[in-house]
Amino acid sequence: MAQDLRSYLDRVKSELPGDFVTVSGEMDPAHQVTATVAKVEKVARKRPVMLFENVKGTDFPVITNLHASRKRLAMAMNCAPQDMLKTYLKSMDEPIAPREVNTGPAKDVIMKGDAVNMLALPQLEHHSGDGGAYITAAISFAKHPDEDSWNCAYNRLMITGKDTTSIHLTLGKHLWEYHQIAEARGESLPVAFAIGVHPAIALGCLAIGSIDEDERAIMGGLFGEALELVRCETSDVLVPAQAEMILEGEILPRERIPEGPFGEFTGYSLGARDREVFKVNAVTHRKDAMFHDITVGHLDHMLLSTVPMEANLYRAVRAMIPSIKAIRVPSPFTCFVSIEQRLLGQAKNAIMAVFGADLYMKRVVVVDHDVDVFNDREVNWAIATRCQPDKDITIISNTRGSDLDPSTAGNDGNTSKWGLDATAKPSLSEFTPRHSYPSEIWDGIDVDDILS
Ligand code: MN
Repeated sequence: MAQDLRSYLDRVKSELPGDFVTVSGEMDPAHQVTATVAKVEKVARKRPVMLFENVKGTDFPVITNLHASRKRLAMAMNCAPQDMLKTYLKSMDEPIAPREVNTGPAKDVIMKGDAVNMLALPQLEHHSGDGGAYITAAISFAKHPDEDSWNCAYNRLMITGKDTTSIHLTLGKHLWEYHQIAEARGESLPVAFAIGVHPAIALGCLAIGSIDEDERAIMGGLFGEALELVRCETSDVLVPAQAEMILEGEILPRERIPEGPFGEFTGYSLGARDREVFKVNAVTHRKDAMFHDITVGHLDHMLLSTVPMEANLYRAVRAMIPSIKAIRVPSPFTCFVSIEQRLLGQAKNAIMAVFGADLYMKRVVVVDHDVDVFNDREVNWAIATRCQPDKDITIISNTRGSDLDPSTAGNDGNTSKWGLDATAKPSLSEFTPRHSYPSEIWDGIDVDDILS
């Protein structure tokens, strides 16, 4: 399977022709690109991939809104939209280790040292009040300082100079942990970022699991073949050979600079905070490289991250409750789970499993299997009619959550969490029955006949 962004875009253009829009007029990188995507979504209710050919101040065209459709994400995984959870779980259960190749198109152009110029990239400002130009589609590749394990993640980068950015490392997550280990010895952490990759790589990098789990092998699982990697010019970090662009460099020890403000997926713009510094040692890219941007805080951002999140949560809950039916992450920090509850107390076990499996999860609602978690009305109905708040709400204080949650103490992620058991008690079969109709009557009604 082709592992590059361009082949994927060719598929989009031929199989979903309405899903690709080229804008040739000159665009201002400050707010105009993001606002255009947002307005097309809001006014026309369309979510095409958008290629901005002419962005002021740069030679690189900008591609954005790539991930804003479940159909397109399913295409990247070679499955139907309704099979994405199953397909993603398979890639976690049957990962394929990556393989190193000698070279690739990501090395067409190589710029090192003084030739590095982050200011030549599109200086995209997304929302009003952002602290500067942000790179939102950079996927980090890094090796554990001591062990032969690797990590991939999205980390937002704010361009702060010709060869520096500030970087947001989510507190408590894997790249942050790598950096903690290196920094304790006064060492920098070699990291490289891929910008502009096939969406299967994007989906794989968002896999949530143990620090030992190799996201690169989940990318391979999604491709059905080993991900091809090349060695960096200035470090031993391995990066996707087919990427549009690679930023090579290191996260410096004991240096912090302001990062933010930045409008995030939560719908809020958090203020500037002191964060780590990424020093860029080389930029390599394809001939005629496209610069990939994620339209942050919109469906381009949200749809992409929920697929891996739901797969991980499904796996974690299933380990405790084999009769789990469905799971959904409908909004930030929130999870709905439906289970066929065979034993009293399983709903609470589901709540604990969710909290144990995902740092960001803060509110869990568990319903019976007759409730459709993809229908907000049904979930609200179950909360209202099967729940006694004094007994069915569990609150856990003083835990870690997301440092992007503006309601947490000091905006730094120390949070309480709550679970809601909205299952019928003592069991669905013993609960007050739902209204229904005799099946022989229901089945005998011909709606077309009635309405004709
Ligand atoms: Mn990881």
